[in-house]
Amino acid sequence: MYITQVGAECAPVAKVGGLGDVIHGLSRELAKQGNEVEVILPKYDCLRLDLIEDRRRVCEDLQVPFYDQWLPCRVESGTVDGIHCFFIDPDSDHGFYRRGHIYGEVDDPGRFAFFSRAVLEFLLKTDRQPDIIHCHDWHTSLLSVLRWEVHEALGLSRPRICHTLHNPVYQGIAGEYLLRAVGLAPARLMTRERLRDQGNPHAVNLLQGAIVYANSVTTVSPRHAWEVLHTDQGLGLQEALHTHGHKLQGVLNGIDEDTWNPRTDPQIVRNYGPESLPGKARNKQQLRRRLGLEEAAKPLVAIISRLDRQKGVELMRHAIHYALGNGCQMVLLGSTSEPWIEELFRDIARRYEASGDCHLALRYDEELSHQIHAGADILVIPSLYEPCGLTQMTAMKYGVVPVVRRVGGLADSVFDANYSDKAFEEVNGFLFDDPTPEGLESALGRAIRLWFEHPEYFRQLRLNSMHTDNSWARPAQRYLDIFEAIKA
Ligand code: ADP
Repeated sequence: MYITQVGAECAPVAKVGGLGDVIHGLSRELAKQGNEVEVILPKYDCLRLDLIEDRRRVCEDLQVPFYDQWLPCRVESGTVDGIHCFFIDPDSDHGFYRRGHIYGEVDDPGRFAFFSRAVLEFLLKTDRQPDIIHCHDWHTSLLSVLRWEVHEALGLSRPRICHTLHNPVYQGIAGEYLLRAVGLAPARLMTRERLRDQGNPHAVNLLQGAIVYANSVTTVSPRHAWEVLHTDQGLGLQEALHTHGHKLQGVLNGIDEDTWNPRTDPQIVRNYGPESLPGKARNKQQLRRRLGLEEAAKPLVAIISRLDRQKGVELMRHAIHYALGNGCQMVLLGSTSEPWIEELFRDIARRYEASGDCHLALRYDEELSHQIHAGADILVIPSLYEPCGLTQMTAMKYGVVPVVRRVGGLADSVFDANYSDKAFEEVNGFLFDDPTPEGLESALGRAIRLWFEHPEYFRQLRLNSMHTDNSWARPAQRYLDIFEAIKA
């Protein structure tokens, strides 16, 4: 199948978060399974050009309409980690992708609306007719709308569109001017059934547009697909999602097993696998040394997370107190842009500073995150909202037993050691339902007790985690099934 991936990020050349990892990991796996895959991105000035091979100009004079002008663009191609990519580079005073970063500009809706139109113009001009255009998040939502409202008639008749919602908190809300900017008719589209926002009748909701116009809509876990339909996690999109419910499916993300592999990870002191678990003990020792924790017969409980309300900051605080009060050591690696949250955790750090059992690293640190995965025994993820979540999957790969709230992708990837209908070899962690201190204790308490009282069983749980298949192989196959079903 010929598949074009279109999004705002692709790791490692343009990555802010999980979206970049998904486009990268999924594209690689789809290509590995024999498909023709390409990724189209804006040519940001902050692209990691050093990681792009074989850069070449492939198109000099792409003309893209914007309001009443035609903006000239150049298009380059290149290879990123074996993935064939195109980069669209407009030459105009707007400097759309020359802002030093990927997001966070007041004209973000305009920047990405222009990108959506430019992608379709590029496909038309170069006579590309992919079987599938796979779009991601609000940034590329207008692609589905334009494809049907404009480009079908211009000759782009083959591609069918699958749109993936990674995090529906961000929907792309803008004034109706945005539709005019890319050549769409507001009078036709500003209806409740199409792009008019449900909360603000004067605003366009781009993500809603993708739900209405795409051939298939996916969320990043099956559980989250249910949540957006049936709970307040639909965030105003419920009506559109219900109307188009027949198109909605959830596909759990995978992880990049080249980056997250304790057998080969160059950032940890001793490589190990399920057959060489003592190597993990050596990493635990090294982590304790690095962070100034005492050597003791105690489980090491970890948190690695953005420190955000969505991630359950209050429950994280409770987890720290509870773990320390129940004979554990605790490591937290987390970052936040909100000063009050930073102060909350600084306060805890000061309180336990001298204990020799607790270390809080309030920053973003890739290397330390690998070392925590290699050294920790238990990882706590108390999210209130989690479309998929990657940390539970990377943790499992390193034999860290996850303790998670039963929400979104956490519920689809962690199977409770005591209360699950899975076979014994498939259980891999602990879950709780209520986002309360008691709820958290009901799962974390079981994990801690198991470590102290039944080390052999805990070890087996570690092995089960390590054997859990969180690779991209299965998710890529699920996407292919969806693509096959909608393809022309
Ligand atoms: P989200 O994208 O909502 O932040 P995910 O679990 O999907 O959450 O992905 C976040 C990724 O970033 C995970 O791999 C996690 O381990 C990593 N991460 C989060 N905070 C930090 C940090 N402070 N330092 C290093 N890695 C982090």
